[in-house]
Amino acid sequence: MYETLNLQLPSPVTQIHDSLLEQKKIKLFIKRDDQIHPHIQGNKWRKLKYNLIAARSKKFDTLLTFGGAFSNHIHATAAAGHYLNFKTIGIIRGEETLPLNPTLQDAINWGMELNYISRSQYREKSSAEFIEQLKHKHGNFFLIPEGGSSSYALKGCEEIIKELDEDYDYVCAACGTGATLAGIISGLNNKSKTLGFPILKAGTYIEQEVNNFLKKNNRTNLNNWKIEKNYHFGGYAKTTGELISFIIDFHEKHNIRLDPVYTAKMFYGLFDLIEKDYFKPETRIIAIHTGGLQGLRGFNLKLKQ
Ligand SMILES: *Cc1c(COP(=O)(O)O)cnc(C)c1O
Repeated sequence: MYETLNLQLPSPVTQIHDSLLEQKKIKLFIKRDDQIHPHIQGNKWRKLKYNLIAARSKKFDTLLTFGGAFSNHIHATAAAGHYLNFKTIGIIRGEETLPLNPTLQDAINWGMELNYISRSQYREKSSAEFIEQLKHKHGNFFLIPEGGSSSYALKGCEEIIKELDEDYDYVCAACGTGATLAGIISGLNNKSKTLGFPILKAGTYIEQEVNNFLKKNNRTNLNNWKIEKNYHFGGYAKTTGELISFIIDFHEKHNIRLDPVYTAKMFYGLFDLIEKDYFKPETRIIAIHTGGLQGLRGFNLKLKQ
């Protein structure tokens, strides 16, 4: 059903070379999920895939989902709806701000209907009562949870691992809800160690969430993973001058763009761990570039094309 999207799959794997990696004898690779599609990229494609297939096979013509005003998931869902002929409705957290930011402007241009709800209403968005109200207002729709993080997401994210044709000691990814990490852990089946880098200040919450996703999908006894909590940079979408310099530097050295919300925090953390001899010499690491590059536009950051 998605052949017309011309997705670049399997996404390419490239090796990163620099003096620190050479000095520490670490082999670092990147899985370029950011190259899957200009607008439906990274883990947002992985998470949407089986949601879209289910919506189509169950004959829904409308997708409804949730997100913040800069959400990569809202952006990807609106694009998918446009290319694959679904009507899309985005329930957005907070008040409308005009002019629209580039994320929501794209969503509108792709035909998404935006509805704004208060932050307190947003916290209740999964309640049966609120879903009933939405059905009353919008008619029948296929519901995709925030971030695309349904059970279908796990299956899609397992495919990140299935596409790899070499073995690695560690697989690294940024985490928000933890659904992508759970899919990676599930796909690896204890074969390699997974490291998650939460981009929120979240305490032990993220471990619980990852475990919940695994349990809901009957994936138990998967314990070869760890959360590295020290790289959230103050919380969701918070940045520092150091993080921004890191993004600029990384782009100059490797010609790979990172977004400040997710992938830059993971790579910063990963390089910090390498610097601190967290990994033994000859360790092979693959980091997943989970995309999110549309989000760069929300930051005042100029990278050469
Ligand atoms: C949404 C997103 C994540 C987080 O994914 P979760 O499954 O919610 O943990 C990571 N990286 C990027 C670029 C994202 O857009």
